[in-house]
Formats: sequence, C-alpha cells, structure tokens
Amino acid sequence: MQYRKFGNTGFDISALGFGCMRLPEYQDAEGNWHVDQEKATDMLMKAYESGVNYFDTAPYYCHANSEIAVGKALAPIRDKVKISTKCPLGEVKTKEGYEEMLDKSLAKLGTDYVDYYHFWGIGKEEFDEKIVGLGLLEEAKRLKAAGKIRHISFSFHDTPDALKYIIDNGEGLESVLLQYNLLDRANEDMIVYAAEKGLGVVVMGPVGGGRLAAPTELAQKLGNGNLNTYELALRFVLGNPGVSCALSGMQTADMVEKNAAVASLEVPMTEAQWREAGESMENLKKFSELYCTGCAYCQPCPKGIEIPKIFEAYTYYNVYGLKELAGKNYQNYVKGNEEHKPGATSADCINCGYCERKCPQHLKIRDLLKKVEPVLQSL
Ligand code: SF4
Ligand code: SF4
Repeated sequence: MQYRKFGNTGFDISALGFGCMRLPEYQDAEGNWHVDQEKATDMLMKAYESGVNYFDTAPYYCHANSEIAVGKALAPIRDKVKISTKCPLGEVKTKEGYEEMLDKSLAKLGTDYVDYYHFWGIGKEEFDEKIVGLGLLEEAKRLKAAGKIRHISFSFHDTPDALKYIIDNGEGLESVLLQYNLLDRANEDMIVYAAEKGLGVVVMGPVGGGRLAAPTELAQKLGNGNLNTYELALRFVLGNPGVSCALSGMQTADMVEKNAAVASLEVPMTEAQWREAGESMENLKKFSELYCTGCAYCQPCPKGIEIPKIFEAYTYYNVYGLKELAGKNYQNYVKGNEEHKPGATSADCINCGYCERKCPQHLKIRDLLKKVEPVLQSL
C-alpha cells in the first residue's frame, strides 16, 4: 500500500480508502435491513491487513446501519485506523444540533471521537446558510478542542467556483471529499488548489460510481488496451498528485484485493501517461460530431428538455463506447424514477430556438436531438 501526506493533518493516509456505503446486507422476514456483520468485518479487516487506514461512513449508509457495523468491525483496531463520518446538515437547525448529530454518530460507532467529521454534501448555499449562518465552523472547532472531533472536513457537491469559495472562506477546514474521475474532471483544478492550501483531498467515485467498472472499449480508445477500464480509472485518479486517497465502496473481498494492488503501485500512472489519458478523453470528445461540454447554457428549455443529459448519454455511447450505461441513462431519463420525473424529448420541442442561440458550441441542437434519441432508444 502506498501512503500519501494528508494535507496538513499530520497523517499519512493510504492511497486506497474504504467507502462503507455498500457493505453486504440482508433483509429479514419483516423487511428490515441488516448489515451482514461477519462478512462486513471480514472485508474491513482484509482491507486493514492490505494497508487501508481510512474508513469512510455516514449516518444513512446501508439503511442507517453502516456506522454501527463499521464501529463493531474496527473496535479492536480503533487506534490504528481513521474513521470518517458525516453530519447531515439538513437535520441541523441550530448550533446545538451539530453536536447532537455528532453524538448520535459516536453512539452508533461505539467510539468517543471521530477522526474526520464532515459537513455532508455541501455547496455554497449550505456553507453560507448553515456553516457560517449558524456558526457551525466555530462549533466544530470547539468540539475539536474538546477532543470529540480530531479533524474538520467537508464533502462537496457544487461547482468548482463554489469549492474555491468554501476553501477561501472556510478557515479551519482540513480535508475535502469530492467527486473526480475520468468522466467527470470538473474538480481537477480545484484538487490542485485544495492541496496547495494544505487540505487533504479524498476522491469519491474514482471509477465513476461504477460507470467505468464494466469492461469497455474505453481503455483501447485511450491507448491503454492492456488495462481494464476499471483499473485505468483508478490509476488515473491516483495519478493526480493532488489526490491523497481514492475511496472505493468495495463490496467483495476480491474487490479489496484488486484495488489494494493498484493502490500499492509506487507509480500508478506517470505524469506523462496521466496527462495523455486526460487529453485523450478530451480529444475523443472534441473530435466527435457532438461536442457538448455540459455547460447547460441551453437550459432551461421551456419544454423541460434536459439537453445536456441527453447529449451526455450519447457521448457515453458514441465517444467512450459505454453502450450499456448510455442506454440505461437515457431510459432512466425518459421513464423517470423516484428522484426524477419522466424526461421531455425532441417530440415535445416547440422550435423556439432558445437553446441554439445560447449554445457556445453552436450545436444544431434540434437536429442533433432528433438524430441521437432513436440511437439511444435502441441501445
Ligand atoms: S428549440 Fe426546442 S429544445 Fe430548444 S429550447 Fe426551444 S423547445 Fe427546448
Ligand atoms: S449549451 Fe451547448 S454545449 Fe452547453 S450543454 Fe447545451 S448543448 Fe451542450
């Protein structure tokens, strides 16, 4: 296992971290979910024996049972590992509410301190309204001084500009957990910025939330035909020198072994290879007939057609060879799901032309929609 300096926290973190959101579970006769403790413990201990020293959980993971399972599994080696968990700010209405959430997590984890306590899934709005508005950063510092939190962290879901804003205004924040992978490199520059400012950087979704896990033509397209896409994706994330640790939501002992092997490589990717992989991804996109950057200037469409989403699905298929993923994303968009109502398509277009006037890539959006939708439908 390779270890990296974790910002200014004084800790050398393993290049591979364990994301404890997909621990093995089962349902009892009443329909209640439980973590299979024996299997979970085996996996977490296997990871520890492979050198993993950072375990990330959260109150709602695994039907709200992850913290309990992680606490039980890691109890015998508590002082040898770092446990990270998160504060759901949606439930924090007052300054005192922050400590209440922390106490709930501590009780479930069966420990009296959390190593890295995250403001969970924040953007600029949560930072301004909750963290600054309710004085939660000061509260976190007080609890750090009291020994209940070892380090103050945040996980992040917003634009790169918002990330810079939080880093610049969040004095006392010590590490960030953010999304970054070969398909979504929006945070790349900010990873460098965060590292320069002394923050530890943990990456979630290093293999694109499973999107890059299936074998595809992508590795061949990027000129790395001897690697499977999954390994290429993990190496790419670890090839970024600003990244301290890649979190993987491992589900089997086999995955632990494979990931640990990649995280043990002294040089997961040389700087030249890393630049080449990134540039190849961009070129694949640029030289395709449909170069949509996902900027969303074409939105909102008066009929609710989510043009960037449709074009993204097509890019997955046409550019990266991720056929199954492209088809699935498009079907989910059209049919809708619990988070998203059924999506509008070119059949709903009223030809107002708004989108095409706004598109910086000058795409003939209406024609392209008509062209790509039947292809996506057929996947
Ligand atoms: S032209 Fe069609 S797709 Fe474009 S904004 Fe108008 S309704 Fe939406
Ligand atoms: S404005 Fe153009 S480039 Fe930007 S998301 Fe819309 S279609 Fe894509």
